[in-house]
Amino acid sequence: MQYRKDQNGEELSILGFGCMRFTKKGNALDLEKAEQEILAAFRAGVNYFDTAYVYSGSEMLLGTVLSRNGIRKDVHIATKLPQYMISSISGVERYFQEELKRLQTDYVDYYLMHHLTDAAQWERLKNAGILEWIREKKESGAIRNIGFSYHGNTENFLKILEDYDWNFCQIQYNYLDETSQAGVRGLKAAAARNIPVIIMEPLRGGKLVNMLPKEAEEAFAKDRRGWTPAEWAFRWLYNQPEVTVVLSGMNSLEMVAENVHTADQARVGEFEEADFALLEKVKQAIREGEKVGCTGCRYCMPCPQGVDIPGIFRCYNAMYTEGKRDGRFQFAQTVGLTREPAFASQCIGCGKCEKHCPQEIPIREKLKEADRELRPLPYKIGINVARAFMFRGSRKGRKA
Ligand code: SF4
Ligand code: SF4
Repeated sequence: MQYRKDQNGEELSILGFGCMRFTKKGNALDLEKAEQEILAAFRAGVNYFDTAYVYSGSEMLLGTVLSRNGIRKDVHIATKLPQYMISSISGVERYFQEELKRLQTDYVDYYLMHHLTDAAQWERLKNAGILEWIREKKESGAIRNIGFSYHGNTENFLKILEDYDWNFCQIQYNYLDETSQAGVRGLKAAAARNIPVIIMEPLRGGKLVNMLPKEAEEAFAKDRRGWTPAEWAFRWLYNQPEVTVVLSGMNSLEMVAENVHTADQARVGEFEEADFALLEKVKQAIREGEKVGCTGCRYCMPCPQGVDIPGIFRCYNAMYTEGKRDGRFQFAQTVGLTREPAFASQCIGCGKCEKHCPQEIPIREKLKEADRELRPLPYKIGINVARAFMFRGSRKGRKA
């Protein structure tokens, strides 16, 4: 196992154990099976375990395994505040105490504001008094490091990042998401501020392994490196020194062994031109099924009406490469639930964006098409209800 350091110089294993995908047995999690997987990873040097209040049964399972094997103090626990469920600091405290109880511990090593998608959510937490609460918890040692996990667009990520002295952050990042969500810009901005970055969804929920088009599979199979598709995805991340830990939701001993092997072998800067070229070929094959040939270059931005043009096209494409539900879910997360509305329906047809698009995309026409598919009526209603709840008290929340 290799290790990279946090802000205090503590060594974190570059492979982290994501505790959201344990195998189920009946209606509950399979404790015995998960225990074997956790212990196998621990013996191989994994020392970062990531769970959350809302991962059903996960905190309790992790607490039980760490406690009955006497290894709590040998690992780092990361868990998360369901910030979207709270409206006061007493609520924050209640969730936190419940999490400590479930985890059978009196401190959390890495505590995250879960699933921020917009700077406005962080503002709401600050207005509720979270900064004072964090200060007290850090002083008492109940929380050792404070961070946030993120799913919105790059601009909002940068705002949150710069607004507070974070100890770490967690982003979705993989070779297909290099320019979406926090993206490579967010990764580098965090590293420049000495903020360790934990990576989630390195395989895009398994899709970079299970849903590859045939041409992509063949390109990997024929390559001189002999790496598996999963190995390519992990090594692309480990190749970047700005990445601190890569989480993997492991639920078999084979998966643990394969990921541990990759984390042993990978090196920063090992990618050569031929490797990047191969991944470009793979990305092209994945994108063949896409509806709009948008590369995410952002030359069309900013739109004077606030339309998130590349964000909308990315989710529209995801509907055809990853499944309709996934595309719409990504849309809700990254475009639908930002405080400033960024919908295609805001377009007034000025045509400014099309003058700058190197791909010569008929952006106005494609935006209409994308909006029809991304927001059929039930989704439109759902997003509006969620916005009204998230941005309650704000006029913008009701505007979508
Ligand atoms: S045409 Fe629409 S999307 Fe393009 S810049 Fe004008 S308002 Fe924005
Ligand atoms: S300029 Fe064209 S290719 Fe680039 S992000 Fe905008 S729409 Fe996509």
